[in-house]
Amino acid sequence: MQQWQIEILRCPFDRGRLTLGEGHMQCMECRRTFPVVDDIPSFVVPDLTTAHEREEWLRKQSEMQARDAQASQYDHLLGLLLMSPVETRMTLRALCGKSECFTTLAEVGCGTGRMLQHLAPLTELVIGVDLSLQSLRLCRQRMRSAGALEKTLLIHADACFLPLADEVLDAVVSCQLVEHLPSDRLRRQVLAEMTRVLKAGGRYAVSGYHWSWLTRWSGAKQGMHQGGIYYYRFTRDEFHELVSTHLPVESLRSVLGYVWLASGSKGV
Ligand SMILES: [Zn+2]
Repeated sequence: MQQWQIEILRCPFDRGRLTLGEGHMQCMECRRTFPVVDDIPSFVVPDLTTAHEREEWLRKQSEMQARDAQASQYDHLLGLLLMSPVETRMTLRALCGKSECFTTLAEVGCGTGRMLQHLAPLTELVIGVDLSLQSLRLCRQRMRSAGALEKTLLIHADACFLPLADEVLDAVVSCQLVEHLPSDRLRRQVLAEMTRVLKAGGRYAVSGYHWSWLTRWSGAKQGMHQGGIYYYRFTRDEFHELVSTHLPVESLRSVLGYVWLASGSKGV
């Protein structure tokens, strides 16, 4: 691991600084250790269980297993293939606002790197966080093929407990993650975490499932996808309220009636 990567990371439990050992990182405060697998530090450790309600944790476990199992097929899902070009263009535009490039950008819930590969050219350093280690391994291959691996840090972590220092990012992105958090409490916690790690004045873009005429036709307001992945679809008011509680909403648009996309800058 590179020095900048070690310096930006913190213990997800007490925000202690971390040191790098042989195949693991260790918190200088609580002394917990976190394995480093294929150059990916892993903060999904059993102690996380205690920070969740039982039902929340069971649903997260179920999602983690499903994401690992489905990682190699994810990039071939028809809906995503059709939507990705439009979604990517809209997300990059919403994120940048008047900015042209960033120093340190993170995507929370990067999966196999569908969006991260397009975000990388916008920034000097790029961080991808995901709950699925298998997805991160595929993401790593993708970033290598894109020639961006040297400036990339991939982190296996729970989005509600980001192992990052306060106010270290000048841009944060999250695409279609928040709807998979299994409770209102955790959905708010993700937004609070993204706000914490973003510098004052930093840019953000967040998207989540839209409860629209289109999605009403094809499913329920909340439920389970195949394989055991929980989802929740937001009305405009619900999504606006969720984001604006933490970050000022400059723009809120629907992407093809499928997801909401909110963006803006963190207040100074
Ligand atoms: Zn610690």
